[in-house]
Amino acid sequence: MRIRVAHLYPEYLNIYADRGNIAVLESRARWRGFELEVERVSLGDELRPGAHDLLYVGGGQDREQALIAPDLAARGEAIGQAIAGGAAVLAVCGGYQLLGRFYRGRDGEELPGAGVFPLETVAGERRMIGDCLLECELEPGAPTTLAGFENHAGVTRLDQGAEPLGRVVAGYGNDGESGFEGVRVGTAVGTYLHGPLLPRNPWLADWLLERALEHAGAEVVELALLDDELEREAHVVAAARARSRGGRS
Ligand code: GLN
Repeated sequence: MRIRVAHLYPEYLNIYADRGNIAVLESRARWRGFELEVERVSLGDELRPGAHDLLYVGGGQDREQALIAPDLAARGEAIGQAIAGGAAVLAVCGGYQLLGRFYRGRDGEELPGAGVFPLETVAGERRMIGDCLLECELEPGAPTTLAGFENHAGVTRLDQGAEPLGRVVAGYGNDGESGFEGVRVGTAVGTYLHGPLLPRNPWLADWLLERALEHAGAEVVELALLDDELEREAHVVAAARARSRGGRS
């Protein structure tokens, strides 16, 4: 079985080793006997409806965000349809911001967003930087933790009633005060956490692969367990680093 991935703007939104996230998805799919086919979709390229089981958007600085924002904003309907159709989405940092309604930078310039995430972002005075630990429960009754590194000036406010990706145990999260981090809209998640994110949080990689396989038409999706000893160790180290900075900043 094949999982079709669209990697959006890989040559613009690629800081913080975001490509590591794709590498993790590729390996974890292959180890289970699935093939991951990654298509680069960039400025002006077509995003064919229903053609992808998983969409990935990485992080970038304001400068790179400005270069791709109008193109991404114009894809709002296509991305919204992909999510409504059950495709998995992972959007990190700069990509996360731009899937919201807009991002306003320090210079006051407002970049349009795709409007598929119920949120907006305005750059603040301070940079929210450091290790970050979340408690998440994407599947009811299955709480888990997510460890990563955040580095953003953007202050993201979720709309009333929007579902965050997780609760901040240590770090800043969306805005440094609400205690929320990221967003979840059905099969789509957005987050500030990178590092890259998936090597130290393999459960999230598998959650995305499961959603993608369902979208690809798999009847029963039960991923074989993998030997995740190294990944678990990486998670423990990152989580401890986040905890050592104390509670919410
Ligand atoms: N515009 C972003 C910020 O808030 C960039 C985020 C990122 O991907 N580093 O700093």
